[in-house]
Amino acid sequence: MNIVIFGPPGAGKGTQSNFIVEKFKLHQLSTGELLRKEIKNRTNLGSQIESIINAGNLVSDDIVSDLIEKYISDKTYKNRLIFDGYPRNLIQVKNLDNLLKKYDQKIDMVLKLSVSLETIKRRISERKDLEKRVDDNEKVAIKRFEMYEKNIEPVIKFYKQSNLLTVINGEKPITEISDEISDLIEGFKGWLWEIRQYKYAGKQILIKIWLVSQG
Ligand code: AMP
Repeated sequence: MNIVIFGPPGAGKGTQSNFIVEKFKLHQLSTGELLRKEIKNRTNLGSQIESIINAGNLVSDDIVSDLIEKYISDKTYKNRLIFDGYPRNLIQVKNLDNLLKKYDQKIDMVLKLSVSLETIKRRISERKDLEKRVDDNEKVAIKRFEMYEKNIEPVIKFYKQSNLLTVINGEKPITEISDEISDLIEGFKGWLWEIRQYKYAGKQILIKIWLVSQG
């Protein structure tokens, strides 16, 4: 299955994406990360996009589309993708749909981690105490939150109308959120798994291994 995950900065999207990747052996496709890699590797594309990213603006829809096609077209990742940071506008929604169709796939589930601005502020101040991150000052955080919610609204609305959207209460403890996401994914038809039996310290252990998704 292919998943899209949304959440404003500080909502715990990274933590939950990692959890899904680990448990269900999906591949996380973060467009922000892919773009940063281009800059780090000093590619042609990297030099084109560096100033755009540094200014906090969006890179062109075509550039991002080309980047993700490499993964969507790769059989290793077929029906195993979790999109993070994409799509960010309605053109990208359409592009993603077309790309997936081209490779006989679709979006099966859209998750939105929902948190209040108050919670974001609290988490950032806690993190600041722990990590002393200079970029995480409250003003920047509020601006990023508001920008995010505003920009992503039409995209969320679209997926809601398509009956693909599940809003997850991101205020809950991390493990409760992971359990909720896990239940949703496990409940999605088309998953294949097998039970494997192991012996450890004289005991039989049964482990449920997730295989591929047919969906
Ligand atoms: P992120 O790590 O998702 O916050 O992305 C970091 C930066 O990469 C953004 O501020 C944009 O400049 C760029 N970027 C990431 N994803 C996209 C996207 N889907 N469309 C356009 N630009 C993007």
